[in-house]
Amino acid sequence: MTRIADPVDGDHPNEECGVFGVVAPSRDVARISFFGLHALQHRGQESAGIAVSDGTHVVVQRELGLVSSVFDEPSLRSLTGDSAIGHVRYSTTGMNKWDNAQPVALPRGDGLVALGHNGNLTNSDALRRRVIDMGHELHATTDSELITALISHEPGTLLDAVCSVMPLLQGAYSIVALTEDELVAFRDPNGVRPLVLGRLDGGWVVASETCALDQVGAEFEREVGPGEAVRVTAGGIEARQALPAMGRSLCIFEAIYFARPDSILDDQAVWQTRHDMGIELAGESTPAADLVVGLPDSGTPAAIGFAQRSGIPYSEAVVRNRYVGRSFIQPDQELRATGVKLKFNPLESVIRGKRLVVVDDSIVRGTTTRRIVQMLKDAGAAEVHLRISSPPITWPCFYGIDMANRDELIAVGQTEAQIAAAVGADSLHYLSLEGLQRAVGRPADAYCRACFTGDYPIPVPDASGKERFEAAAGAAPSR
Ligand code: SF4
Repeated sequence: MTRIADPVDGDHPNEECGVFGVVAPSRDVARISFFGLHALQHRGQESAGIAVSDGTHVVVQRELGLVSSVFDEPSLRSLTGDSAIGHVRYSTTGMNKWDNAQPVALPRGDGLVALGHNGNLTNSDALRRRVIDMGHELHATTDSELITALISHEPGTLLDAVCSVMPLLQGAYSIVALTEDELVAFRDPNGVRPLVLGRLDGGWVVASETCALDQVGAEFEREVGPGEAVRVTAGGIEARQALPAMGRSLCIFEAIYFARPDSILDDQAVWQTRHDMGIELAGESTPAADLVVGLPDSGTPAAIGFAQRSGIPYSEAVVRNRYVGRSFIQPDQELRATGVKLKFNPLESVIRGKRLVVVDDSIVRGTTTRRIVQMLKDAGAAEVHLRISSPPITWPCFYGIDMANRDELIAVGQTEAQIAAAVGADSLHYLSLEGLQRAVGRPADAYCRACFTGDYPIPVPDASGKERFEAAAGAAPSR
């Protein structure tokens, strides 16, 4: 199967990865991991995998495809043990191969170390040379294999090994690692990607988002802190501050788009944060209009907030087909056009003759947005006023999010009026950085906002061209 970027979500940044881990000797840890990964499926649809340890052996099953297609009842029954880690992955076109599926597993001592990674390293090139000099033959093109290889060479407990390797890593990483007798979760010193711990009846859980804790009946305990490594056992957690925390730079796009709306980030419900973005947006720019509509599903909370603040009625106006797969075959221009219709169908009886405020969370290239505006006008909309619940994306991401190269970003060097004209809208407004900051309710330095500001919290080699960097790094981001 060739995984191609979703042709109808082409105007959103693409999801990254999700990680999950569980230690629960009296429970079916493979089944718990399956449901945990199921809750994290929105973070990656390209491949899924689970590694299980029974205390003596680590067994890994990973495959291209959705969680529900990779695992079935017999395969889950065969994965028996006391602890497990899991991973769902997204990657860019052409980098989808089985070797890149995770958990990655490599020999360590007499056993195995398995690892699942969400994020992207910015010093992959140096690490790759280091790992090759150690005599490793690399099979994958992900930086996750490099991290696994480095850990596999370190002596001592898994926690010792992780703490020895963390100072070598630069970039964004939220990772779960498993050996026969240990599960360790660790996070970069800037805390770019989320990672949370939860208490389970009979054990402990670690996951990218709290929605996965909810799914398996675990109670949120706390985040894995920036620079922290945590050994998770059935009896509790043993934490080490492996690296000094560099403040915190949580990816603000987690709040805008990536995280599931029922997750809690920074003690705040993601749905509520997005709703508040809509309130801020309406405070900044409300056109004369008859209806506020959100592009389902990601634009809906902000659209509801916009309607509340503006007093303009909210309505559904576009129905989303939730069962359109994200794994389209090559999306040439024709297929991209069809893709919008496949996924969104306008409610003509609602739209006809109306002046619409259409709320969406972000625009990357603008190609899909243009088709959606056209679709709404074809359905009879008198006017389409776009309101975007995030600032203009003008810089690429180096920390695990597939956005685009800078020259593909529609907002670079263009005014709102020019972008509105380019996508065929009657007007357009992006939420200001200040408005976004008020909605997330934390100070600016608590977040990475680099794709809006170009101010990267972790040094990047060359912010002008993402592809150039990836080519130089010689490794695909793990996401
Ligand atoms: S650059 Fe943007 S998408 Fe990437 S981590 Fe920072 S805020 Fe998130």
